[in-house]
Amino acid sequence: MAGYLLARAGVPVAVLEKHADFNRDFRGDTIHPSTLQLMFELGLLAEFLKQPHQELRELRVVVNGHAVPAADFTKLPTRCKFIAFMPQWDFLNFLSSHAKRFPTFQLRMKAEVIDLLIDNRRVTGVRAKTPEGELEVRGDLVIGADGRHSIVHTRAGFEQREFGVPIDVLWMRISKKQGDPKQTLGFFQHGKLVVLLDRDDYWQCGFVIPKGAFDEIKARGLPQLQNDIVSFAGFLRDRVAELDDWSKIKLLTVQINRLRNWCREGLLCIGDSAHAMSPAGGVGINLAIQDAVATANLLAEKLRNGPVSIDDLREVQARREWPTRLIQGMQVFIHRRVVTGRASERGNALPFVLRLLKWFPVLRQIPARFIGLGPRREHFHSPTAA
Ligand SMILES: Cc1cc2nc3c(=O)[nH]c(=O)nc-3n(C[C@H](O)[C@H](O)[C@H](O)COP(=O)(O)OP(=O)(O)OC[C@H]3O[C@@H](n4cnc5c(N)ncnc54)[C@H](O)[C@@H]3O)c2cc1C
Repeated sequence: MAGYLLARAGVPVAVLEKHADFNRDFRGDTIHPSTLQLMFELGLLAEFLKQPHQELRELRVVVNGHAVPAADFTKLPTRCKFIAFMPQWDFLNFLSSHAKRFPTFQLRMKAEVIDLLIDNRRVTGVRAKTPEGELEVRGDLVIGADGRHSIVHTRAGFEQREFGVPIDVLWMRISKKQGDPKQTLGFFQHGKLVVLLDRDDYWQCGFVIPKGAFDEIKARGLPQLQNDIVSFAGFLRDRVAELDDWSKIKLLTVQINRLRNWCREGLLCIGDSAHAMSPAGGVGINLAIQDAVATANLLAEKLRNGPVSIDDLREVQARREWPTRLIQGMQVFIHRRVVTGRASERGNALPFVLRLLKWFPVLRQIPARFIGLGPRREHFHSPTAA
């Protein structure tokens, strides 16, 4: 998104992606109303909505056996009053195909950044590994948008604060059948959680486990895991045996962390590279996009004329840091108190807050705003190319 917006403003941009394509399934699929609004502002919405996707207008969860309507997106002050579920590879292919229409945009796949180029303490570019050999790319600004295991922030020597998260996620596919529930589903039970993402012809299943417990789960055997999944989502009983080999089950480690400084001369980190997000609330993708919009809003005009100063870069951090802190604070709270991956001793009663959501529909707009729009929503106002 940052590459798209900067190229749209006429800034020469080279995006380096280490994989040969965007086809990886270990990320979330949620495109929130705030991001859909940005697509509208960019004039891309109509075409975007032609891509295969599902629309979620109301978030329903099953908590200790009780179905709860938890968030109502239909009253949001946005063009699209729903979350669009679209696999991230479709989203990225869509965005990059549009970015390629700008003459100053270049996307280089199979180009893995392995180091930073530093002259006189200023970052002046990156060194990348490609099938044709090593490559040096120099520029006025390097943007580290390389995710949770960012080589960019590691090489920059940035200090990172870790917020302990007590969970990991097992990620697997289970086939869909006619008659299955229609919506993407979350099943909570006494501190445990199973999420099912509807990916058209299969369910992407996320099963929350206590951090470090995968070996213990493996030792208990596959039938036990299958039973555990069925105890959350009974309708999967007739096909959970598809999970007949551990190679079909991926362990995704969950982290929440944040850099103290997101920038130094010539370098800015955004998205998970600056602040790794957990899946809680399904907001990480949208937060990363909001960072990209703020980056373009604050820097595009200046980058058209050359390098930007460290103070310019600090402005991006200053703008995006408090929404990030707020959301990460919420995620840490959820992992410590609500979804811990371990069975709690509590009974089957519905927690009071959720009962309120059930009784007073108007309250469902609060989680809808927090999830769907997030704090400090960015609107796109960087320039277009002259
Ligand atoms: C299990 C799990 C489920 C989640 N579910 C959701 C969800 O449903 N909704 C949601 O909004 N968020 C979700 N999140 C959080 C979300 O995935 C992240 O917050 C979001 O992907 C961050 O986007 P990003 O662009 O900063 O980083 P990423 O999406 O990680 O993208 C980084 C990109 O950089 C590339 N790259 C990495 N290293 C290099 C390198 N050295 N050289 C070149 N390229 C490189 C990667 O291949 C990748 O394409 C989930 C997270 C987890 C762990």
